[in-house]
Amino acid sequence: MLEIEVIQGDITKLKVDAIVNAANRSLLGGGGVDGAIHRAAGRELLEACRVFGGCETGEARITPGFKLPAKYVIHTPGPIFRDGFHGEPEQLKNCYVNSMKLAEENNCETVAFSAISTGVYGYPKKEATEIAIWAVRNYPVQKVKKVIFCCFGEDMLKIYQDVLKMMAP
Ligand code: ADP
Repeated sequence: MLEIEVIQGDITKLKVDAIVNAANRSLLGGGGVDGAIHRAAGRELLEACRVFGGCETGEARITPGFKLPAKYVIHTPGPIFRDGFHGEPEQLKNCYVNSMKLAEENNCETVAFSAISTGVYGYPKKEATEIAIWAVRNYPVQKVKKVIFCCFGEDMLKIYQDVLKMMAP
């Protein structure tokens, strides 16, 4: 049975097996959580990401965590939200599914997700949260025992708590 926890905090501080970065398609760092992760992990993370030559929206890549307390970073570019009718829900779901897949393949037991696409990419927060929780809950886990949704602000924490309650089995 997968344990799901919601916390408010800075994902760069978490000592888990993998943290999931809301990256962009270049995988070369950016603003928001991506910038924070690259700053905390150090220069080596950028070098490790460079070899991928970018990543399509909804796909995911894994690197070591370098100076981070987390063992790995899973990088996944979320969709830029237009109106929801341009494949955004499917792409966002793929971010979570493909990240879970990499976590499984790398024997991760604890995985922390940032709220992909809900910052500058503009995905409506409640809808994005529903997709995140649904995708993770329905993933056929074998190795992953615990998923932490790491919310940066109080408003996001509240949304996750509400959606979790609403979706309770
Ligand atoms: P995107 O481009 O995918 O929208 P952002 O980094 O702009 O990515 O935002 C994604 C989410 O990450 C937002 O909800 C934002 O508040 C959150 N965030 C920003 N910094 C951090 C951090 N250090 N730890 C956890 N979450 C963060």
